[in-house]
Amino acid sequence: MPRLFKKAALIIFLIASAMVPVLAWDDVGHKITAYIAWQSMSPRARENVIKILRAAPEDSHLAAFYKSYGSEPEDTRKREYFMLVSTWADIVRDRAFENRYKKYHKGPWHYSDTFWRQADGKAQILTRFEEGGQGVTRLFESEKILRDAGSSNAEKAIAIGWIMHIGGDIHQPLHASARVTDLEPKGDQGGNLFLLTPQGTARENQVNLHWFWDSIVGRNIPLRGETCERGYIEPIAQNMMKKYPYSKMQNRLSLGKYDSWQAESFKLNPTMVYSPDLIRGQLPPAKYRKNAFRVAEEQLALAGYRLGETLNRIFDN
Ligand SMILES: [Zn+2]
Repeated sequence: MPRLFKKAALIIFLIASAMVPVLAWDDVGHKITAYIAWQSMSPRARENVIKILRAAPEDSHLAAFYKSYGSEPEDTRKREYFMLVSTWADIVRDRAFENRYKKYHKGPWHYSDTFWRQADGKAQILTRFEEGGQGVTRLFESEKILRDAGSSNAEKAIAIGWIMHIGGDIHQPLHASARVTDLEPKGDQGGNLFLLTPQGTARENQVNLHWFWDSIVGRNIPLRGETCERGYIEPIAQNMMKKYPYSKMQNRLSLGKYDSWQAESFKLNPTMVYSPDLIRGQLPPAKYRKNAFRVAEEQLALAGYRLGETLNRIFDN
């Protein structure tokens, strides 16, 4: 294919994917992580978690997602409910439900950015920046709520929603990074300011680096028309578990060390995210896209095992 045409085709493909809201790390990625977590959980931990979630405050709508009847076996319904719960923190972004939005939406909880500058191919960490998100703090806080005998089940349900969601987000390297450049002196907001489309592209057609990583699974493994969501997500998650089995990941779990999870995720930025072949205003080349997907798969699997074991420690000991 002529270069120009190939590039145009790719841009159209990327933009078309951007228009399918269901295909984002925020949805597919979180559900994959939750599926893997569920597989790692003991029957007792699962039982306790579901019981608590169903006691969630009514105005959070978290309890209402559970399908108490249906043609699927009960265990499948519980697993799917748990997977949906991992996306609750994004569901509450919907301003159409104003009260729920005001009470539960917390933008800065979804990330914990390390500010840094790239110098001679190395990351120079900048410490004098203030607002870098509260992801790590909220993970510690959620675990504290879950372990506190004085917490109500309603409070614990919200904490499970957050721990499952932030625990996934923090494994997306760009939820742990704010790169500072001359163009972005206050940081690039996890790559949101780093455009992959050429200068002058109409706003609605722009795509950025954050979006590229958020939507990486859906772009690499597109959802086919008639496949139901379960038929789509399960095989992807199972394949990731085969590629990155628990036996090979179990010595990397660092349970309870949420700052280590963040630091590890951040470290991928200077090498795998802002690698020399990534150029502003251009879509990443094939080799970059391939490496990025591999990194994302490993991060999603790791997040799943970590969260599953975290819940086992709290709810089955
Ligand atoms: Zn999020």
